[in-house]
Amino acid sequence: MLKALIIGISGQDGSYLADLLLKKGYDVFGTSRDAQGGSFRRLTYLGIKKEIQLISMDPEDFRSVLVAIKKSKPDEIYFLAGQSSVGLSFEQPAETIQSFTIGILNVLEAVKMEPRDIRVYHAGSSEAFGDTEGAAANEKTPFQPRSPYALAKASSTWLVNNYREAYDLFACTGILFNHESPLRPARFVTQKIIQTAKRIANGSGEKLVLGRLDVSRDWGWAPEYVEAMWRMLQQEKPDDYIIATGKTQSLEDFVSKTFELLGLDWQNHVVQSPDLMRPTDLSISKADPQKAKIALNWEAQIGLERLIKMMLEGEFLNS
Ligand code: NDP
Repeated sequence: MLKALIIGISGQDGSYLADLLLKKGYDVFGTSRDAQGGSFRRLTYLGIKKEIQLISMDPEDFRSVLVAIKKSKPDEIYFLAGQSSVGLSFEQPAETIQSFTIGILNVLEAVKMEPRDIRVYHAGSSEAFGDTEGAAANEKTPFQPRSPYALAKASSTWLVNNYREAYDLFACTGILFNHESPLRPARFVTQKIIQTAKRIANGSGEKLVLGRLDVSRDWGWAPEYVEAMWRMLQQEKPDDYIIATGKTQSLEDFVSKTFELLGLDWQNHVVQSPDLMRPTDLSISKADPQKAKIALNWEAQIGLERLIKMMLEGEFLNS
């Protein structure tokens, strides 16, 4: 039986990936900084918590990374942990940068020391590209990070490239564009829009307060994206892949579709606040996911309207 170690299993992607790997017959180990104290609500929601072997591990602490790898003896490691909010990265730049760069460095070093071959997936991010005003970003587009989060993701991606070249490790980066689901934590803007719009539709009388509405992103459905992570590690050679729908839409589109599905006109319920605008933000994020389509036979199936519907229908875990 193949064994997988998911670092950062309590998050959105970690939970869906655990579900996928269990269905594929893997023995799944998962780490959290506090495996005893964590609630793991997403794993419970998916009905899989009892099937996961949880390990306490702080990615910034090399000893704990090494122990987790020795304990789980994985064939595949998925590194999904770290401070993942772009907005919060402006408030906590050092923690954000350390959690991603030292985290993946520790994993790569530990894997390098292991006598067995272990395949590593690293969670990169479209944020590393910065604005993609002209042509859509592909795997050769240079990084131009515009936040501490993006800078951390650019550095961690380069670390993976370096270890792949220098030590012949099987390590891949998935450069994922935004992906959403009911399991998205409450602090992210899509979940905030969905939950506030639902309360407004139920008569709360509140306003939905947002920052810029003119920013554009490529939004996909998270459960589909974890399949792409797994496929990367099944290839003959390690490589990096962009994972996205290839369709860019504005935040205003996201908001208006959400209210429309609830039978409301968004303009009556949304206000903009300069307090929610970031020091620097991406205006537009455009993806070219052709390489994943050809090499991984992976293509996003779920478009924005269906995604919003499923988020509106999903249970909200409020964490
Ligand atoms: P989440 O924020 O849902 O989960 C990340 C996990 O990392 C948390 O559950 C937490 O686990 C752990 N974590 C949080 N802060 C820290 C920290 N300071 N140090 C170490 N660990 C920490 O992220 P997602 O599941 O949405 O994303 C997975 C990965 O993919 C992340 O690296 C994210 O940046 C990246 N990504 C996500 C995108 C998206 O649209 N969702 C797009 C592109 C990239 P615990 O508290 O249990 O230790």
